[in-house]
Amino acid sequence: MRKSDNRFFTLIELLVVIAIIAVLAGMLLPALSSARERGKSVTCLSDFKQLGLACQLYSNDNGDYLLPTELKFADSAAGNSAKHFGLYAGLEDRYLAPYLGVHPYATYGSIGVASNGKIYRTPMLCPSLQFKNVTINGYIMTYQLKAKEISSGSAVLIARKVVKIGSLKYPSDLFHISEGNSNCLMVDWDTVYTPDLNKACGSIDFRHRGSANLLFADAHAESRVRSNVPCKEHQGNDSYYSSFWATGKAQDLKYRF
Ligand SMILES: [Zn+2]
Repeated sequence: MRKSDNRFFTLIELLVVIAIIAVLAGMLLPALSSARERGKSVTCLSDFKQLGLACQLYSNDNGDYLLPTELKFADSAAGNSAKHFGLYAGLEDRYLAPYLGVHPYATYGSIGVASNGKIYRTPMLCPSLQFKNVTINGYIMTYQLKAKEISSGSAVLIARKVVKIGSLKYPSDLFHISEGNSNCLMVDWDTVYTPDLNKACGSIDFRHRGSANLLFADAHAESRVRSNVPCKEHQGNDSYYSSFWATGKAQDLKYRF
């Protein structure tokens, strides 16, 4: 046996092995981050299902009425401009809190800010969302379930009654809640993709690798890509008459989607 056969790896051989390992790791990492993101999306969808269950329980206890998108009322205590969004006000004890098990003072949805300034995390926190501003909750509701502005003292009780599930032609088509990326907590057929803080409506955030999770009026949740969300960009003004947006009460449905 020659003396050179007993040697260990040369430096070159070691570097080649390290380079091969680096290449393999480089190939695996994107797959791993993709799997991690898919996991977050599944967790988020599961949260939406829980939210759907809470909304369903709310409807059962409130004469079949869907959780409204916005409550707006003149209240001397809250001020004339006070807005109470169904989902977010829903975290107060008189709305969704009993069904979600969240802190009753968590009035700002995903991240709740109590009257003492303390921040509470609630089940409605998308794992893929990075919060920069606690006033942006990351969730958005349909404009079509926006409660009417009422100025009477008992407005809260009246404004809660917008649309009954039983009155809907296709409850499994009607969009209720999704993921948003603007300061506005409402979204409508003509502003789905336009994050514009000055507009009346916000936009859906397709934050899960091009998909967004959505909750429907029948309380089922699903993940959809942009092209599967009817909007002005796809159907023009006809999208207003889609069963995705129309409650079936204010207007006749032109097509199902
Ligand atoms: Zn999400």
